[in-house]
Amino acid sequence: MLMVDRLLQRVAMEIDTVANPNDRHCHQAVEALVDHYDEASPSRRKLIDEVAAGSLVFFWSRGSSAPSKISTIVSKRLGGYKYVAKLLSRLECNAFAITVAGKVSHQIGQGLFLDATMFNHSCEPNCIQLFQGTSLRLRTLRPIFQGEELTIAYIDVNQHKAARQSGLIAGYGFVCHCARCTSVEEAWWDQRVTGMGCPLRGRGCVGLSLPKGRDAALFRAWRTMKGGNGRKAVESRTWAHLCTSCGAQRDEKEVKRLEQEFLAAEEHEKKAEECLKEYGMNPNALVMATGMLEGAKSGYARYGVPYVSIRMHYVLARLMELNFATQDFKSAVEYGTLAAPSLEAICPRNSVLIAYHLAILAKVVWLLGDCKTTLKYTSRAMRVLQLIDNDDPLISEIKALLEQARRACGS
Ligand SMILES: [Zn+2]
Ligand SMILES: [Zn+2]
Repeated sequence: MLMVDRLLQRVAMEIDTVANPNDRHCHQAVEALVDHYDEASPSRRKLIDEVAAGSLVFFWSRGSSAPSKISTIVSKRLGGYKYVAKLLSRLECNAFAITVAGKVSHQIGQGLFLDATMFNHSCEPNCIQLFQGTSLRLRTLRPIFQGEELTIAYIDVNQHKAARQSGLIAGYGFVCHCARCTSVEEAWWDQRVTGMGCPLRGRGCVGLSLPKGRDAALFRAWRTMKGGNGRKAVESRTWAHLCTSCGAQRDEKEVKRLEQEFLAAEEHEKKAEECLKEYGMNPNALVMATGMLEGAKSGYARYGVPYVSIRMHYVLARLMELNFATQDFKSAVEYGTLAAPSLEAICPRNSVLIAYHLAILAKVVWLLGDCKTTLKYTSRAMRVLQLIDNDDPLISEIKALLEQARRACGS
């Protein structure tokens, strides 16, 4: 609301002072941004309209502090709340979350950076946005080919395809067809998230057990968008599964039983996360979380899929850190190594999240005297971290560790 208020004042003041209406000014650049207002769903549009009306009330309520000339411009020239609604929609589609340097998850505000709004989205972006105070810098995440488009991420790209696509449709009104979304690996992972292991996997079949034919799409929608509309209707259905590779069947009763196991494993995973959040306040948190994690792991193992959720990653990565802190290095490496495949499944290549994870894992592996693995992890982590180039002490630490590991391995 404050941002809309500021922008409104600025636009109105600019219109007031513009001598030649053909001059390109800030407000025209803002008005040229996409707003996706007309394509928004009725419920979303209603929400935008409500906030817009609220912003206008806020604007008027300040009375004398907004010069009357400007108020007149807002109501007469800009057409009142519809203008504000579109402005709000533009901010939603184009503003950047301003984060604290080195901490991509610590958001301190939002800003509209007109030049940066020109960049398109990719789920495997080749650039990353970094902040120095409130100024935005874009850094490339890898070498760029001549003529290659520079892309950034509009959403958290450390998610499965289904989650990314629904985030992009809801927030920006488009379906993503980037290289990652259309890759074979992604299709494989997408199935992996929704299917269960083949009943004959013990005998070496690596196929996936999925509902037959048309049912597969519905089943997948339910699995990836839990809690959505119609969940009950879908959940009460029964599904017979076929293995995509050997054709082994699973009857409806068996599928239902395994689904229950999966939900129970998910509950264990959630509880493990809750326990870890209590660490520091509850002396048993670590032991309890470890127990919950074991429950989740065995549940998933019976279901026959690898653990690939962002929550599972959080649990494993946190257990790695805490065991590292309590100097149980062996357990720390065990959890850190377990977390790696789930990260690879949900993160794009050159992901900062993977780089940070490997950096911490490398530190533990080094303490256990494994210089080859340390070298492998630090090299991969540094390829991304060196580009970030901020004052995060971990980055200089990993740089030094990479040199040490190189010397120890004699390369
Ligand atoms: Zn994409
Ligand atoms: Zn099979």
